[in-house]
Amino acid sequence: MLDIASYDQINPPARLLMGPGPINADPRVLRAMSSQLIGQYDPSMTGYMNEVMVLYRGLFNTANRWTMLIDGTSRAGIEAVLLSAIRPGDKVLVPVFGRFGHLLCEIARRCRAEVHTIEAPWGQVFSADRIEDAIKRIRPRALLTVQGDTSTTMLQPLAELGAICRRYDVLFYSDATASFGGNRLDTDAWGLDAVSAGLQKCLGGPSGSAPVTLSPRFEEQIRRRKCVEQGIRTDTHRDGDDEMIYSNYFDLGMIMDYWGPERLNHHTEATSMLFAARECARLLLQEGLDNAIARHELHGAAMLSGIRGMGLGVFGDIAHKMNNVLGVVIPGGVDGEQVRQLLLNDFAIEIGTSFGPLNGKIWRIGTMGYNARKDCVMQTLAALEAVLNRLGFASPQGAGLQAAWDHYASVAEA
Ligand SMILES: *Cc1c(COP(=O)(O)O)cnc(C)c1O
Repeated sequence: MLDIASYDQINPPARLLMGPGPINADPRVLRAMSSQLIGQYDPSMTGYMNEVMVLYRGLFNTANRWTMLIDGTSRAGIEAVLLSAIRPGDKVLVPVFGRFGHLLCEIARRCRAEVHTIEAPWGQVFSADRIEDAIKRIRPRALLTVQGDTSTTMLQPLAELGAICRRYDVLFYSDATASFGGNRLDTDAWGLDAVSAGLQKCLGGPSGSAPVTLSPRFEEQIRRRKCVEQGIRTDTHRDGDDEMIYSNYFDLGMIMDYWGPERLNHHTEATSMLFAARECARLLLQEGLDNAIARHELHGAAMLSGIRGMGLGVFGDIAHKMNNVLGVVIPGGVDGEQVRQLLLNDFAIEIGTSFGPLNGKIWRIGTMGYNARKDCVMQTLAALEAVLNRLGFASPQGAGLQAAWDHYASVAEA
């Protein structure tokens, strides 16, 4: 029997979220979300939608007209892009260096793509040459990349790939969810045709909205499909069904017509999430995107110094690590899950576990968004040292904290 009286108002425990995301939302974002709703075609609402487009052009470093939100978590952005780009039978190339590369493969297969992969060992990234060689060999229609793969903490350099894609007439997409706002991303300068992201990493918001940006070249591909679907274009050499986008919700052509001046009714825009997304972008742009990236770099590097100062090992090719997340090797003889439990129960701090080949081998510690702050770094290091000492991994008392502090001091003096 449902005893409704026993259900209290939602009141989650206070936590400091220092994992690979989600992280604590900026209180200003939470306040924006609690604003009252307005009608879908209220001029204030369409005004906010237009502002969101302008703000996200700033964050994506792009002049792309089609810069907007897909309602849903980051994965909704990925699906919208892939479903709208890929026709059944198209070849795509996915350089896989972690779990999210496998996700792109899986979604592309559901789009009936012919999926080709190249793989890098977890903890490493690809050279541009290796990707170009694969493009030459496979001649895919699209290159699907992950910029920052949180499963390994690595950041794939993208700057040179756009020119390569142009040379071979390949569409260039990246999932930037983990890296967006905390690491450089130059959509136009790097020749990206589509990028998707989310709010719950460096943007300091909750999950549930996926900002995307689409190049004019990408738009043209989508529009061509749409015309076929409506029976306007009949001169196609392809079967009409192959041109159809197999989703209504994620049909980017329809979503563009909803966000554009036509305002053709599609879904009901997730208003509270749009308020959150607008506030996330407003805060980052007021801080200055370069300053926000520098902040993630600073606190990420301080965490790295602290972890090393404690005598712990770090995972992967550190030169290619994202600014905002660090893989920490679980020392021998220590139960990684017990450490996470003690951190959560006695310090209310959450750090991340790992998947697949890294399961049980590393923790992932984030310094991102609202939690890319000195006090969060210091609290986490202090708690981790205490827990590890209690479980028998002795590090000199306070060594991690002092190393992080030294890092902050050295940067302040520089
Ligand atoms: C965290 C993350 C996501 C998250 O997707 P959700 O649908 O928001 O859970 C997607 N891609 C990457 C690379 C991520 O790091």
